[in-house]
Amino acid sequence: SSELKGKHVTVAGLGVSGVPAAKVLHGLGAHVTVVNDGADERARAQAAELEALGVTVRLGDGETLPEGTELIVTAPGWKPDKPLFTAAAEAGVPVWGDVELAWRLRGPDAAPWLAVTGTNGKTTTVQMLASILRAAGLRTAAVGNIGVSLLDAVLGEEPYDVLAVELSSYQLHWAPSLRAHSAAVLNLAPDHLDWHGSMEAYAADKGRVYEGNRVACVYNAADKATEDLVRAADVEEGCRAVGFTLGTPAPSQLGVVDGILVDRAFVEDRHRNAQELAEVGDVNPPAPHNIANALAAAALARAYGVPAQAVRDGLRAFTPDAHRIAHVAEVDGVAYVDDSKATNTHAAEASLAAYDSIVWIAGGLAKGATFDELVAKSAKRLRGAVLIGADRALIREALARHAPEVPVVDLDRTDTGAMLAAVREAWRLAVTGDTVLLAPACASMDMFANYNKRGDAFAEAVRELGAGA
Ligand code: ADP
Repeated sequence: SSELKGKHVTVAGLGVSGVPAAKVLHGLGAHVTVVNDGADERARAQAAELEALGVTVRLGDGETLPEGTELIVTAPGWKPDKPLFTAAAEAGVPVWGDVELAWRLRGPDAAPWLAVTGTNGKTTTVQMLASILRAAGLRTAAVGNIGVSLLDAVLGEEPYDVLAVELSSYQLHWAPSLRAHSAAVLNLAPDHLDWHGSMEAYAADKGRVYEGNRVACVYNAADKATEDLVRAADVEEGCRAVGFTLGTPAPSQLGVVDGILVDRAFVEDRHRNAQELAEVGDVNPPAPHNIANALAAAALARAYGVPAQAVRDGLRAFTPDAHRIAHVAEVDGVAYVDDSKATNTHAAEASLAAYDSIVWIAGGLAKGATFDELVAKSAKRLRGAVLIGADRALIREALARHAPEVPVVDLDRTDTGAMLAAVREAWRLAVTGDTVLLAPACASMDMFANYNKRGDAFAEAVRELGAGA
């Protein structure tokens, strides 16, 4: 940290990561300039706050590298092909993301990190992990995109024994020196390809989470791409590859036998070849993808040395966050389920697989995805589909190709009120015993501020429907 004193540091982007980063860097004695593309009201308010501290802020130009920059600290979402980074590369200026900054600033006695990445299930898994660690009596927090910010966890007063860290592919891209105690890649499916440029680049960024692991690299035995990333990683001597599977586990794996989560990787009693951890029913909800999340969380906790009893207690104490397969209401014998967090096709596939007869509400921003595989795999479960949002035509065309008999209502709307209309159309299509499932397979920003707002609009629409029924 003293290495930052007197340095000319450019912070790329205001917002949730940029403002605290600028403050911390300024506090460490760096000469900080913040550059930001936009200059809206919120940006101007944040700029004023920073300028009052003596930080230079340049609004409306996030492309030009400020003269004399020795280091860039970027918001994770900034695309690597931006001219700012091209200029930095040419000038030999290193670029750190928010995670790299936190990693570099952690103290000598800092808590080790148990890291989780993957296309889907990160937040859930990290929260399960924190719950398990807490059940073991450890001081911990779920940090990253959720809960406590990484900078706060690393620099704050609160002492931690170990951190459960959620990392996005963007954050990993900008975190070259991060070395976790142990890490898990839950799954790999195409997402954010417009940002990373290709599936290979996306996978490579995810794979960075394994670099330098000390105890265990946890992979998904049903997703070979995750195992390939373990093989490609440069890890500390003695670090083990540990798989998780929904089937019977091989040695060095965690899995499920007769409804019991068992561990064959970290067995305390050397006279036995498996350790029972918990029952499938201890996982909330006990949907297949969520049992996989629980196994991954258990694997990381066990790598840290947590006893079996704490895995069970921690899983039982866990409740999922809002908008993740949340049961909203039942109207006229039809269940309404909010999985607004299914913002890509892989997530939507997992939630569609959890129900038998579905009226599917989908659409939004596709982020470069294609829908053929999702629709082909889910076609037999669909009673009907209601499409909203900017890229709904892509889903409509996939339905026409792979599920021509499924009735589709294309609402041709991207206004916020479209959700109420969509729920009404879904109600019309559904029959007793069906599930109306919001699993958009798309991002929400064409219609809503975020997936939370989208899910809230769905729940609100269901309530209005219930009141009118
Ligand atoms: P993330 O933090 O990676 O976005 P979340 O835990 O918030 O993940 O879950 C996001 C969505 O992904 C959930 O709403 C669910 O539809 C789906 N999901 C969760 N876990 C998995 C998994 N292991 N495999 C596939 N889909 C999943």
